[in-house]
Amino acid sequence: MVLAQLGGSISRAIQQMNNATIIDEKVLNDCLNEITRALLQADVQFTLVRNMQTNIKKIVDFDALAAGHNKRNIIKQAILKELCKILDPGKPSFAPKKGKTSVVMFVGLQGSGKTTTCTKYAYFHQKKGWKPALVCADTFRAGAFDQLKQNATKAKIPFYGSYTESDPVSIAVEGVERFKKENCDLIIVDTSGRHMQEAALFEEMRQVYEATKPDLVIFVMDSSIGQAAFDQAKAFKQSVAVGAVIVTKMDGHAKGGGALSAVAATKSPVIFMGTGEHMDEFEVFDVEPFVNRLLG
Ligand code: GDP
Repeated sequence: MVLAQLGGSISRAIQQMNNATIIDEKVLNDCLNEITRALLQADVQFTLVRNMQTNIKKIVDFDALAAGHNKRNIIKQAILKELCKILDPGKPSFAPKKGKTSVVMFVGLQGSGKTTTCTKYAYFHQKKGWKPALVCADTFRAGAFDQLKQNATKAKIPFYGSYTESDPVSIAVEGVERFKKENCDLIIVDTSGRHMQEAALFEEMRQVYEATKPDLVIFVMDSSIGQAAFDQAKAFKQSVAVGAVIVTKMDGHAKGGGALSAVAATKSPVIFMGTGEHMDEFEVFDVEPFVNRLLG
């Protein structure tokens, strides 16, 4: 990432630092305060921002830096490193392989964009020559199966679900079995969303997880949930082994700082983001433009 590309507040903060004749503790603090403000406004969790500040101050040790060191550069690099570090949990998520069967389970709250994202994810892979399939294990929300069916039909992706069966676990198992027999290489299981307070949601999700043994669980998060992101992501991670995050509705006003919290809470990377209601409004997550947006 090129620092000159960093947008808005952070570039202003760095510019101010560049204009200062002497780089001392006060200049660094002013710069960090400006960045902190920008991150909090973008909904990044307070603890993450505070840790970032502490880490940068540790790297930029004025007593240890001998005269002649380029302090401006050291500060810039430290800021950059810390921002990227927050978005990098240290290990990549499980990567399904074309031609080899993988089961991917989607979890998230109702309204997060989960069902839409399942189809987007399937469509994205289908365009690259995969054989995806969709299983609707959401028996709770009336219309969930119809929605998935409609999306799947539009994209010509095979789907499985039931209007009569009320047990999400049997539907999930039957769907996964069927598509394994049909040699689909990406079997996507959409689960019920509901609300945060419902213990039943987490129990049902855990049962679907146990029964289908997915290779990857993707947590879908609405970018506009703001500071609630950390607790929400953590609650899901505690019930099932979340391995990746997808942030939706990045076409809206939210800057998506909650994504940093979700990464911290799940120790999983963000892999895609949703940028609209349509099937193809879906992008591979890229740290650089995301950070630009966050700080802009
Ligand atoms: P679920 O309850 O989590 O399954 O959510 P849905 O998939 O039904 O999505 C809820 C609403 O969010 C629908 O109106 C979707 O069209 C919309 N939606 C989903 N993803 C995006 C996105 O990336 N951008 C926008 N603008 N809308 C989205």
